[in-house]
Amino acid sequence: MSALLALADDQHYPSGALYVVATPIGNTADITLRALHVLGMVDAVAAEDTRNSAHLLARYGLEKTLLAAHEHNERSAAEKVIARLRAGERVAYISDAGTPGISDPGARLVEAVRSAGLEVVPLPGPSAAITAVSVAGAWVEGFTFIGFLPSKAAQRVAALQALAAQPQSLVFYEAPHRIVETVGALCQVLGAQRRILIARELTKRFESLHECALAQAVAWLEADANRQRGEFVLVVQGAPPAASDALSPEVERVLALALEALPTKGAAKLAAAITGASKNALYERALALKGER
Ligand code: SAM
Repeated sequence: MSALLALADDQHYPSGALYVVATPIGNTADITLRALHVLGMVDAVAAEDTRNSAHLLARYGLEKTLLAAHEHNERSAAEKVIARLRAGERVAYISDAGTPGISDPGARLVEAVRSAGLEVVPLPGPSAAITAVSVAGAWVEGFTFIGFLPSKAAQRVAALQALAAQPQSLVFYEAPHRIVETVGALCQVLGAQRRILIARELTKRFESLHECALAQAVAWLEADANRQRGEFVLVVQGAPPAASDALSPEVERVLALALEALPTKGAAKLAAAITGASKNALYERALALKGER
């Protein structure tokens, strides 16, 4: 093991720097050699939950000075961390699981340290979102990470409506007590035809991956109470091309007028010249309008 850890030694680790270290999202073995090396080297570890982190570090045979730096004290914790960094110490930051700053505290601490003119060094590692996307498949070409949706129904629907036309896939985090409600809202607002990957308990004993259309997702979750337990990442297909390329009412009006005087192709060309909208999209829409007529 020490020979392997030596691989991480081949780099300069500046003093007076904050090391933002990703930790496992379930399986303790998912820690990088560099994370172990740095956690072993730093003078203190700032952590979202010092008890959890003490337990995690003990599993790697590490005992460290721990500083609490969670959502509610991130600013005051930052001052303490900055004082240590100014004294030339190396400090690591770890959240409860995965990559700090990703639906987790850490971002404010990073900002405060950098604004103080001090160095921040990222140590990459597990994140539930990336782990789920890696097994989603080719239908996820690009994605937008959303994290947790609002817990109140009306706010959740409004947040989803704002995302409904987005052509890229969407990645959500969800807790077990809201999973059915949230998947129901995804179906209602984004449309029943889109694909969803329900990634549960990644890297853990009861890991499961289920892909289906949103229309079937709630029934699948409700068919077995175990399917609603644990931690979830939801990867949802983006808006189909028609919805994302929807033409504005003004463009629609110009196209309809052009179609009254010209054949399909000419109408699309004229409407594109007047509005600046895509000629192809206008031609497709013109064909559809002719069909409707
Ligand atoms: N910072 C973490 C990361 O990089 O993924 C995320 C922390 S966030 C507070 C916790 C949420 O991440 C959970 O509610 C769940 O949605 C998701 N999550 C974390 N671990 C997971 C796992 N092993 N399987 C599925 N989802 C997970």
